[in-house]
Formats: sequence, structure tokens, C-alpha cells
Amino acid sequence: MVTGYRVVYNPIALSKIVEENVVYLDNNRFLRKYYRFRATKFYGGSAVGDVIGCNVYCKYCWSLGINRFSDLKNVGFYARPDEAALKLLSIASENNFRYVRLSGGEPTIGFGHVIQLLSTISRFKSCSKIRFILETNGILVGYRKEYAEDLSKFPFVTARVSLKGCSSSEFRAITGAGEEFYEYQFKAIEYFFEYNVDVIIAITISFCSRSSFIKLIERLLGIKEDIINRIELEVVKLYPDVAKRLYKAKLLPWIAVDSRESALLKGKAVEQVIKKGCRESNYADSSES
Ligand code: SF4
Repeated sequence: MVTGYRVVYNPIALSKIVEENVVYLDNNRFLRKYYRFRATKFYGGSAVGDVIGCNVYCKYCWSLGINRFSDLKNVGFYARPDEAALKLLSIASENNFRYVRLSGGEPTIGFGHVIQLLSTISRFKSCSKIRFILETNGILVGYRKEYAEDLSKFPFVTARVSLKGCSSSEFRAITGAGEEFYEYQFKAIEYFFEYNVDVIIAITISFCSRSSFIKLIERLLGIKEDIINRIELEVVKLYPDVAKRLYKAKLLPWIAVDSRESALLKGKAVEQVIKKGCRESNYADSSES
């Protein structure tokens, strides 16, 4: 599909292709490719499984290095759903965490793996306090309503839908995908409400204009009046390779966090850090080759 002079892609079609490279069925179990399992500080402490493979390519993605289609075959390892569940639960138990998450790429690719993983977790009565956070861009759930229904069978699940931009044009600028696929993220939110799945909406405000942000909030309020308590605002983090991608794409955030100083930056200061990160990333590329 071509819009103007830019080729855009279809994230639903891409999901299928990615799935063929990161999921396989063995003895009725869906094995999924992971990059790593780890303990993190997020949500006051959470055990995370970083899955590999995504159906969009956000220019600010910290994990794009493990999600590029060309790299899928060369990175990571396969885990059975029960293995992944037990790994997450053991990290949570060792660290006294309440939260376990799937993150990294898009966990809804290879959805059977997620459902089998959740079934394993649900069998552990000692884990009754565990909350499972599914970090998703929502596109596949918006496309397949039954995914929301399936998740509703596990009351310990929270779906965290990360909206890519505050408008369809911002979505395309961030992801490079067709603007029409922006809508699937809203459908996902509606389906989660319809099936009573606990939902959080994350908005990365760094690329939103004031007017698109206001329109987005109004739209979300139209879905559910008390949705405001479920919205989390985020700011892009400028790792050197993220800075390089944003610079190349001429996609400048108005607000961002400097990854090294953990300082909040705006306007010119953002531009300077992006240029610096871009130079350093170029230097790292040339010294590696
Ligand atoms: S949806 Fe998430 S994992 Fe996929 S490219 Fe965007 S930020 Fe990265």
C-alpha cells in the first residue's frame, strides 16, 4: 500500500508472518520465542518475560533491535507456556513481587501461548495475589474480539494497551503502518470493557500535539466516563539508537527523557540530546563493523 511516496504496511498481515517465525506447536503446546526473563522495578517490582516479535515498528521502541523481522531467526530461545509461567512465578516469588508481565515485543502474537501460560498460573492457588499484566498495542485484540473474551476467563489479568500516537496520522508517523489500523487499538479497549477485563491505557505523549491529545482524551471519555483513572502518560526515553532512528525519521518529540541522566527534557534540549545520541550511535556502528 502506498500513501504519498511512503510505503505503509498492514500490522495484521505482519502478525501472521511474525507468528510463523516466533511460535510453533508441539504436543498441543504453543512454544513462543523469548529474549529473556528478568526482575524489574516497574510496578513496584515485577517479573518480566520479554517476548520477541512485534506487528508494528515504533521508531521509539527500545526493543526494536530484537523485534526486527530480519533478526527474528537469530535471537532468543523458545519456551513452553508452562516453563514461561513457572519462570515468571519463581522470579516473582524470589523477589516478593506481586506482578508478572509479558513485554518486549507484542505478546498477543501467538495468542495460544498466552492462554496456556495463564492457565498454568491459574492452577497455582498459592499465587492468588499475582497480577498478570499483558502489555500490548491492542491491534490484534481489536481485530479479534474473541481474544478479549478469552482473557476475561482469567480475572487476575490486566491488559495495558499502549496507544501509538494521539491521532491516526501520529500513529502512522510513529509506526509506519497504515492509519486505518489505529482504530483497532480503540476497538481493543472497547472489547476489554465489554468483557470486564481490567484495562490500563498508556499514552506516550512525546509525539502528540496539544489538540490531538485533547481529542484523544475526549474520545476515551466517550468510551467510558471513569476511564481517566485508567490512563497513564509516558514520555519517550532517548537511548542512542532510539535517538538515531528518530533523527533519521525527522520525528522530534517535544518532551523526552535523557536515558543517561534520567532528566526530563523539552524543546531544544531534546534536539541536542537526539543529535548527540545519533552521533554516538553512528560511532558505535562504525566501530563495530
Ligand atoms: S508496539 Fe511495543 S514492542 Fe512493538 S514496536 Fe511498538 S513499542 Fe516496540
